[in-house]
Amino acid sequence: MTDANRSALRHWLSDVRDSRDSALVAGTDPCGVRWQRHAQGVLELTPADAPTDAPDVGDARDATDTSVGRHRPRFDAILSCGIHGDETAPIEIVDAILHDIADGRLTLRERVLVVLGNPDAVRAGKRYLECDLNRLFQGAHAKRAESPAVQRARELEVIVAQFFAGTNGARRLRRHVDMHTAIRASLFPRFAVVPGTPQHPPSDDWIDTLAAADIEAIMLTEQPSVTFSYHTCARFGAESCTLELGKVAPFGQNRLENFAGIDAALRRWLSGAEMGARDDGKTLRAQRFRVAAEIVRRTDAFVLDVPANTPNFTPFAAGTVLARDGENTYTVSHPQERIVFPNPDVANGLRAGVMVVPVVPVVPVVPVVPDA
Ligand code: ZN
Repeated sequence: MTDANRSALRHWLSDVRDSRDSALVAGTDPCGVRWQRHAQGVLELTPADAPTDAPDVGDARDATDTSVGRHRPRFDAILSCGIHGDETAPIEIVDAILHDIADGRLTLRERVLVVLGNPDAVRAGKRYLECDLNRLFQGAHAKRAESPAVQRARELEVIVAQFFAGTNGARRLRRHVDMHTAIRASLFPRFAVVPGTPQHPPSDDWIDTLAAADIEAIMLTEQPSVTFSYHTCARFGAESCTLELGKVAPFGQNRLENFAGIDAALRRWLSGAEMGARDDGKTLRAQRFRVAAEIVRRTDAFVLDVPANTPNFTPFAAGTVLARDGENTYTVSHPQERIVFPNPDVANGLRAGVMVVPVVPVVPVVPVVPDA
């Protein structure tokens, strides 16, 4: 097969695993989807029936107008995985979706940037090589010594900026789903970290959409961060999330039925339907948490008083001393706090755990009508 009619979608993952660099940087897949390869593992896909000639104008609300027989994408969508190289299940989910688009079993209707984050780490089967890619975004790469991971973070930031800018000024919705799996157990096996800023707080719709994808808990955070999803939210106003979808396993050993909820949701979204509209019609709610505190390791004397294998979202009662650092201690001050991402072995100055508390739903104030 010549490169010209070789399916870029079907070879997205195998090209990365084989370190195969094609000479072609753009083309049309046999299924009709137009693609551009911006870097290794990074494909921009444009639906086969998206308008090409006229500049995209108009409002996202009438983006589904198909009166001219053409579907106008509503979203500029980023779907990323493999930011950590050993988290293979999300990579397999995306690979299967791309195969189904290539084979005509799924019709792509949104403009999407598919990102396999760290090809070097994927080939090595490791979380990362020299440093954690998901600590290098939002410009953090500029403060680090040059390395392949630093170059990759910089490259991905440039591609993302071009992708969001490249729609001829159309006001489309921006969404970024960054998929991970975890080594640690979790009392909520599937949860999302949803970033927000004062300018771009996460909407209730976005949280309910994630709940419909079987995400059981949402950790809302407005702390400035250096993760990929914080970057797309803070810099581009995207509705973003980092998804933790269950346990790490090597390629071929993932139980993909454990990921059915997010897989179905992604397929609904990319094919132009509502991501949150479940086939079974169920309305699911996720438990919402907000960050109450971060436990930061300050000195070599730091001790985190929770076992290293403590599951995410393990609760602790008020008064429990969780960490000691010389004269300072961290004591649970809310009636209950849950720990997420505990890690006593971080370097001084870094976060050894995040404490979260439930978001109390705001009860609407009902005016009291006096009895007549
Ligand atoms: Zn990860």
